[in-house]
Amino acid sequence: MSLKGKTAIITGSNSGIGLGIARELARAGADVVLNSFTDRDEDHALARQIATEFGVTARYIQADMSKGDQCRALIQTAGACDILVNNAGIQHVCPIDEFPTEKWDAIIAINLTSAFHTTAAALPLMRKAGWGRIVNIASAHGLTASPYKSAYIAAKHGVVGLSKTTALETAGQGITCNAICPGYVLTPLVEAQIPDTMKKYDMGREEVIKKVMLERQPSREFATVEQLGGTTVFLCSDAAAQITGTTISVDGGWTAL
Ligand code: NAD
Repeated sequence: MSLKGKTAIITGSNSGIGLGIARELARAGADVVLNSFTDRDEDHALARQIATEFGVTARYIQADMSKGDQCRALIQTAGACDILVNNAGIQHVCPIDEFPTEKWDAIIAINLTSAFHTTAAALPLMRKAGWGRIVNIASAHGLTASPYKSAYIAAKHGVVGLSKTTALETAGQGITCNAICPGYVLTPLVEAQIPDTMKKYDMGREEVIKKVMLERQPSREFATVEQLGGTTVFLCSDAAAQITGTTISVDGGWTAL
Protein backbone atom coordinates (compact mmCIF):
# COMPACT_ATOMS: atom_id res chain seq x y z
CA MET A 1 0.00 0.00 0.00
CA SER A 2 2.83 2.43 -0.76
CA LEU A 3 1.72 6.00 -1.45
CA LYS A 4 5.28 7.19 -2.06
CA GLY A 5 5.42 10.16 -4.44
CA LYS A 6 1.77 11.13 -3.85
CA THR A 7 0.82 14.47 -2.30
CA ALA A 8 -2.09 14.38 0.15
CA ILE A 9 -3.97 17.44 1.37
CA ILE A 10 -6.02 16.91 4.51
CA THR A 11 -8.31 19.75 5.56
CA GLY A 12 -8.72 20.42 9.29
CA SER A 13 -5.78 18.24 10.23
CA ASN A 14 -4.24 19.82 13.32
CA SER A 15 -6.20 17.54 15.65
CA GLY A 16 -8.39 14.47 15.92
CA ILE A 17 -9.31 12.39 12.88
CA GLY A 18 -7.62 14.70 10.34
CA LEU A 19 -4.28 14.46 12.15
CA GLY A 20 -4.69 10.68 12.50
CA ILE A 21 -5.35 10.40 8.75
CA ALA A 22 -2.36 12.62 7.92
CA ARG A 23 -0.10 10.44 10.06
CA GLU A 24 -1.31 7.17 8.48
CA LEU A 25 -0.96 8.60 4.93
CA ALA A 26 2.59 9.70 5.82
CA ARG A 27 3.31 6.25 7.30
CA ALA A 28 2.28 4.85 3.87
CA GLY A 29 4.83 7.18 2.23
CA ALA A 30 2.67 10.11 1.06
CA ASP A 31 3.87 13.71 1.33
CA VAL A 32 1.27 15.53 3.40
CA VAL A 33 -0.16 19.02 3.65
CA LEU A 34 -1.74 19.82 7.01
CA ASN A 35 -4.34 22.56 7.30
CA SER A 36 -6.31 24.43 9.92
CA PHE A 37 -8.10 27.75 10.32
CA THR A 38 -5.59 29.28 12.74
CA ASP A 39 -1.85 29.53 12.09
CA ARG A 40 -0.20 28.47 15.33
CA ASP A 41 3.42 27.47 15.90
CA GLU A 42 2.16 24.09 17.09
CA ASP A 43 0.59 23.40 13.67
CA HIS A 44 3.96 23.85 11.93
CA ALA A 45 5.57 21.73 14.66
CA LEU A 46 3.06 18.93 13.93
CA ALA A 47 4.11 18.99 10.26
CA ARG A 48 7.82 18.94 11.20
CA GLN A 49 7.20 16.02 13.56
CA ILE A 50 5.46 13.99 10.81
CA ALA A 51 8.29 14.75 8.35
CA THR A 52 10.90 13.54 10.84
CA GLU A 53 8.96 10.49 11.98
CA PHE A 54 8.04 9.14 8.54
CA GLY A 55 10.74 10.60 6.25
CA VAL A 56 8.24 12.40 4.00
CA THR A 57 7.67 16.03 3.10
CA ALA A 58 5.10 17.54 5.45
CA ARG A 59 3.89 21.13 5.21
CA TYR A 60 1.31 23.23 6.98
CA ILE A 61 -0.92 25.66 5.05
CA GLN A 62 -3.36 27.91 6.87
CA ALA A 63 -6.76 28.33 5.20
CA ASP A 64 -10.26 28.95 6.54
CA MET A 65 -12.55 26.23 5.19
CA SER A 66 -15.60 28.43 5.74
CA LYS A 67 -14.39 30.66 2.86
CA GLY A 68 -14.62 29.37 -0.72
CA ASP A 69 -11.66 31.39 -2.02
CA GLN A 70 -9.42 30.08 0.79
CA CYS A 71 -10.50 26.48 0.11
CA ARG A 72 -9.44 26.86 -3.52
CA ALA A 73 -6.25 28.74 -2.53
CA LEU A 74 -5.25 25.80 -0.28
CA ILE A 75 -5.08 23.50 -3.31
CA GLN A 76 -3.34 26.10 -5.50
CA THR A 77 -0.75 26.89 -2.81
CA ALA A 78 0.01 23.20 -2.27
CA GLY A 79 0.73 23.00 -6.03
CA ALA A 80 -0.08 19.28 -6.24
CA CYS A 81 -2.99 17.20 -5.03
CA ASP A 82 -3.10 13.45 -5.68
CA ILE A 83 -5.10 12.71 -2.54
CA LEU A 84 -7.69 15.08 -1.09
CA VAL A 85 -9.22 14.36 2.30
CA ASN A 86 -12.10 16.69 3.14
CA ASN A 87 -12.14 16.38 6.91
CA ALA A 88 -12.65 19.85 8.44
CA GLY A 89 -15.82 19.91 10.48
CA ILE A 90 -17.67 21.57 13.33
CA GLN A 91 -20.88 20.77 15.16
CA HIS A 92 -23.58 22.53 17.18
CA VAL A 93 -26.37 20.89 19.13
CA CYS A 94 -29.67 22.81 19.35
CA PRO A 95 -33.38 22.34 18.48
CA ILE A 96 -34.26 23.47 14.92
CA ASP A 97 -36.56 26.30 16.05
CA GLU A 98 -33.80 27.78 18.22
CA PHE A 99 -30.88 27.05 15.88
CA PRO A 100 -28.90 30.31 15.24
CA THR A 101 -28.74 31.01 11.48
CA GLU A 102 -25.05 31.95 11.66
CA LYS A 103 -24.27 28.55 13.24
CA TRP A 104 -26.29 26.79 10.51
CA ASP A 105 -24.39 28.70 7.81
CA ALA A 106 -20.98 27.96 9.38
CA ILE A 107 -21.71 24.24 9.77
CA ILE A 108 -22.89 23.89 6.15
CA ALA A 109 -19.92 25.95 4.89
CA ILE A 110 -17.18 24.10 6.81
CA ASN A 111 -18.58 20.54 6.65
CA LEU A 112 -20.07 20.57 3.14
CA THR A 113 -19.40 23.59 0.90
CA SER A 114 -15.64 23.47 1.58
CA ALA A 115 -15.56 19.98 0.01
CA PHE A 116 -17.24 21.37 -3.13
CA HIS A 117 -14.59 24.10 -3.45
CA THR A 118 -11.54 21.92 -2.73
CA THR A 119 -12.83 19.19 -5.06
CA ALA A 120 -13.46 21.69 -7.85
CA ALA A 121 -9.90 23.02 -7.44
CA ALA A 122 -8.28 19.57 -7.16
CA LEU A 123 -10.00 17.81 -10.09
CA PRO A 124 -8.03 19.55 -12.90
CA LEU A 125 -4.75 18.50 -11.17
CA MET A 126 -5.98 14.90 -10.74
CA ARG A 127 -7.25 14.70 -14.33
CA LYS A 128 -3.87 15.96 -15.58
CA ALA A 129 -2.11 13.27 -13.53
CA GLY A 130 -4.65 10.61 -14.58
CA TRP A 131 -4.88 9.54 -10.93
CA GLY A 132 -6.64 10.89 -7.88
CA ARG A 133 -8.30 9.88 -4.63
CA ILE A 134 -10.91 11.98 -2.86
CA VAL A 135 -11.96 10.84 0.61
CA ASN A 136 -14.73 12.81 2.28
CA ILE A 137 -15.21 12.43 6.01
CA ALA A 138 -18.97 12.24 6.48
CA SER A 139 -20.45 10.57 9.59
CA ALA A 140 -22.90 7.94 10.77
CA HIS A 141 -25.02 11.11 10.86
CA GLY A 142 -24.65 11.23 7.06
CA LEU A 143 -26.74 8.04 6.89
CA THR A 144 -29.01 8.35 9.93
CA ALA A 145 -30.42 11.17 12.04
CA SER A 146 -30.85 12.13 15.67
CA PRO A 147 -32.51 15.18 17.18
CA TYR A 148 -30.86 18.57 17.73
CA LYS A 149 -28.07 18.18 15.16
CA SER A 150 -30.04 19.43 12.12
CA ALA A 151 -27.29 21.42 10.41
CA TYR A 152 -24.63 18.75 10.99
CA ILE A 153 -26.92 15.97 9.77
CA ALA A 154 -27.99 17.97 6.70
CA ALA A 155 -24.32 18.76 5.94
CA LYS A 156 -23.16 15.15 6.35
CA HIS A 157 -26.02 13.79 4.20
CA GLY A 158 -24.88 16.41 1.67
CA VAL A 159 -21.29 15.14 1.87
CA VAL A 160 -22.50 11.62 1.02
CA GLY A 161 -24.44 13.00 -1.98
CA LEU A 162 -21.51 15.13 -3.15
CA SER A 163 -19.22 12.08 -2.93
CA LYS A 164 -21.53 10.01 -5.14
CA THR A 165 -21.86 12.81 -7.71
CA THR A 166 -18.09 13.37 -7.77
CA ALA A 167 -17.59 9.64 -8.30
CA LEU A 168 -19.93 9.65 -11.30
CA GLU A 169 -18.25 12.71 -12.85
CA THR A 170 -14.77 11.14 -12.52
CA ALA A 171 -15.50 7.46 -13.23
CA GLY A 172 -13.05 5.90 -15.68
CA GLN A 173 -10.52 8.74 -15.23
CA GLY A 174 -8.29 7.05 -12.63
CA ILE A 175 -10.01 9.08 -9.92
CA THR A 176 -12.19 7.74 -7.12
CA CYS A 177 -14.33 9.52 -4.55
CA ASN A 178 -15.79 7.92 -1.45
CA ALA A 179 -17.14 8.95 1.92
CA ILE A 180 -16.08 7.49 5.26
CA CYS A 181 -18.83 7.50 7.89
CA PRO A 182 -17.36 7.29 11.40
CA GLY A 183 -19.41 6.59 14.49
CA TYR A 184 -18.09 8.05 17.75
CA VAL A 185 -14.34 8.76 17.93
CA LEU A 186 -13.07 10.39 21.13
CA THR A 187 -11.62 13.60 19.60
CA PRO A 188 -11.80 17.26 20.75
CA LEU A 189 -15.11 17.58 18.80
CA VAL A 190 -16.72 14.81 20.88
CA GLU A 191 -14.98 15.86 24.13
CA ALA A 192 -16.64 19.27 23.69
CA GLN A 193 -20.11 17.65 23.76
CA ILE A 194 -19.54 15.77 27.03
CA PRO A 195 -19.99 18.61 29.61
CA ASP A 196 -23.40 19.71 28.18
CA THR A 197 -24.58 16.11 27.94
CA MET A 198 -23.52 15.54 31.58
CA LYS A 199 -25.65 18.54 32.59
CA LYS A 200 -28.59 17.56 30.38
CA TYR A 201 -28.88 14.01 31.75
CA ASP A 202 -27.39 14.71 35.20
CA MET A 203 -24.76 12.03 34.61
CA GLY A 204 -21.02 11.71 35.20
CA ARG A 205 -18.50 11.62 32.34
CA GLU A 206 -18.17 7.81 32.23
CA GLU A 207 -21.95 7.38 32.33
CA VAL A 208 -22.38 9.80 29.40
CA ILE A 209 -19.77 7.91 27.39
CA LYS A 210 -21.32 4.51 28.17
CA LYS A 211 -25.05 5.25 28.25
CA VAL A 212 -25.42 8.09 25.75
CA MET A 213 -22.60 7.79 23.24
CA LEU A 214 -21.49 4.17 23.07
CA GLU A 215 -25.09 3.02 23.60
CA ARG A 216 -25.53 3.71 19.85
CA GLN A 217 -22.50 1.59 18.87
CA PRO A 218 -23.04 -2.17 19.22
CA SER A 219 -19.27 -2.65 19.63
CA ARG A 220 -19.47 -0.37 22.72
CA GLU A 221 -16.05 0.96 21.75
CA PHE A 222 -14.86 4.21 20.19
CA ALA A 223 -13.25 3.93 16.77
CA THR A 224 -9.70 5.34 16.81
CA VAL A 225 -8.11 8.00 14.62
CA GLU A 226 -5.56 5.36 13.52
CA GLN A 227 -8.42 3.15 12.27
CA LEU A 228 -9.85 6.09 10.30
CA GLY A 229 -6.36 6.70 8.90
CA GLY A 230 -6.02 3.04 7.91
CA THR A 231 -9.39 3.10 6.12
CA THR A 232 -8.25 6.20 4.20
CA VAL A 233 -4.97 4.55 3.19
CA PHE A 234 -6.95 1.54 1.92
CA LEU A 235 -9.23 3.79 -0.18
CA CYS A 236 -6.10 5.38 -1.69
CA SER A 237 -4.51 2.03 -2.53
CA ASP A 238 -4.62 0.15 -5.84
CA ALA A 239 -6.78 -2.49 -4.13
CA ALA A 240 -9.55 0.12 -3.93
CA ALA A 241 -9.24 1.40 -7.51
CA GLN A 242 -12.76 0.18 -8.36
CA ILE A 243 -14.32 1.40 -5.13
CA THR A 244 -15.97 4.72 -5.93
CA GLY A 245 -19.20 6.49 -5.05
CA THR A 246 -19.72 4.50 -1.89
CA THR A 247 -19.69 4.98 1.86
CA ILE A 248 -17.59 2.99 4.32
CA SER A 249 -18.93 2.96 7.86
CA VAL A 250 -16.40 2.81 10.69
CA ASP A 251 -19.01 2.84 13.41
CA GLY A 252 -18.88 -0.37 15.45
CA GLY A 253 -22.18 -1.48 13.88
CA TRP A 254 -24.20 1.73 14.56
CA THR A 255 -25.79 1.89 11.10
CA ALA A 256 -26.41 -1.86 10.94
CA LEU A 257 -29.01 -1.55 13.70
P1 NAD B 1 -11.72 17.93 15.73
O1 NAD B 1 -12.43 19.07 16.37
O2 NAD B 1 -10.56 17.31 16.43
O3 NAD B 1 -11.25 18.29 14.25
C1 NAD B 1 -11.89 19.23 13.47
C2 NAD B 1 -10.83 19.84 12.61
O4 NAD B 1 -11.47 20.80 11.75
C3 NAD B 1 -9.75 20.57 13.40
O5 NAD B 1 -8.49 20.21 12.89
C4 NAD B 1 -10.04 22.05 13.15
O6 NAD B 1 -8.85 22.82 13.12
C5 NAD B 1 -10.66 21.97 11.76
N1 NAD B 1 -11.47 23.14 11.44
C6 NAD B 1 -12.58 23.61 12.08
N2 NAD B 1 -13.01 24.74 11.48
C7 NAD B 1 -12.16 24.98 10.45
C8 NAD B 1 -12.07 25.99 9.46
N3 NAD B 1 -12.94 27.00 9.42
N4 NAD B 1 -11.07 25.91 8.55
C9 NAD B 1 -10.16 24.90 8.59
N5 NAD B 1 -10.19 23.91 9.50
C10 NAD B 1 -11.18 23.97 10.42
O7 NAD B 1 -12.86 16.85 15.46
P2 NAD B 1 -12.85 15.43 14.73
O8 NAD B 1 -13.76 14.59 15.50
O9 NAD B 1 -11.47 14.97 14.46
O10 NAD B 1 -13.60 15.80 13.37
C11 NAD B 1 -13.02 15.59 12.10
C12 NAD B 1 -14.12 15.24 11.10
O11 NAD B 1 -14.68 13.97 11.47
C13 NAD B 1 -15.28 16.23 11.07
O12 NAD B 1 -15.71 16.43 9.74
C14 NAD B 1 -16.35 15.52 11.88
O13 NAD B 1 -17.63 15.94 11.51
C15 NAD B 1 -16.08 14.09 11.49
N6 NAD B 1 -16.64 13.09 12.41
C16 NAD B 1 -16.20 13.00 13.69
C17 NAD B 1 -16.75 12.04 14.52
C18 NAD B 1 -16.30 11.85 15.94
O14 NAD B 1 -16.93 11.09 16.67
N7 NAD B 1 -15.24 12.49 16.39
C19 NAD B 1 -17.75 11.19 14.04
C20 NAD B 1 -18.17 11.32 12.74
C21 NAD B 1 -17.61 12.28 11.91
